[in-house]
Amino acid sequence: MKQVETIKVRNLTTGYRNSKGDKCVTRCLDASLYPGELTCLLGPNGAGKSTLLRTLAGFQKPLSGFVEIAGRPLADYSGKDLARTISVVLTEKPLLDNMDVETLVGLGRAPYTGFWGRLSVRDKDAVNNAISLAGIEPLRYRMVQSLSDGERQKVMIAKAFAQETPVIFLDEPTAFLDYPSKVEIMLLLYSFAHKMEKTIFMSTHDLDMAMQLSDRIWLMDKKLGVKTGTHEELIQSGDMELYFDNPGILFDKADGLFKIDLKKKEELRFKSDNI
Ligand code: ADP
Repeated sequence: MKQVETIKVRNLTTGYRNSKGDKCVTRCLDASLYPGELTCLLGPNGAGKSTLLRTLAGFQKPLSGFVEIAGRPLADYSGKDLARTISVVLTEKPLLDNMDVETLVGLGRAPYTGFWGRLSVRDKDAVNNAISLAGIEPLRYRMVQSLSDGERQKVMIAKAFAQETPVIFLDEPTAFLDYPSKVEIMLLLYSFAHKMEKTIFMSTHDLDMAMQLSDRIWLMDKKLGVKTGTHEELIQSGDMELYFDNPGILFDKADGLFKIDLKKKEELRFKSDNI
């Protein structure tokens, strides 16, 4: 059965408009994101990952092309509608330190609460549910500034869960975390996408983890553009090797993972032994 996409991107060019003209970042992109899937956006720094995420989230206008979310053009969404459709988790530390975790997660309900932000019984249920889904019950009454980076990231994700949107975007949610915390965050997002039929799209530099724990991958490069597919499709097409064609890195097709080129290490050792 053909999957129905949550987000449809057609002929999209992202970038920046200023008085000197347009600066195009990603050109003529056709791609889709699906419910119940975790999709990872991979690419070197400066490739245009944040620009794309910001464009799909409606924070900046496309230079040209078309984005459709849940069957409606993105351009037709009001700010309120968008906040009920997409939650966004950014990399920067939140400037929301002087509050406890429960209150911060409660801010995820802002699109539903009135001006004063008072939480109804329904809102409180959503907050409790998000705290439980993110597995942060023991952190509930901790002050945000006392949390470790990994704990804070889980809290920001719980805030996105509390927003109860069909779509979640995350800009490098695993950056600056130790390895076990990265795995924990990836597993949390993967299971949330699958259990709750959410469309989750995240940028990351954690290649191996993206390959093992995502349903679909978008490869992005300034020169090569964007290629999308499942991990297996991108290996079969040779794109995985092409996009990460760097000295010192080998792609092992058999197990589908990147490895350090040990011949390179030997060469370097040989050179230093002979100095
Ligand atoms: P990534 O997230 O993959 O590191 P970005 O989307 O941040 O890449 O940047 C892509 C390109 O857009 C880079 O060349 C960057 O310098 C440029 N860029 C980012 N922000 C702006 C801006 N506000 N105005 C003009 N160019 C920008």
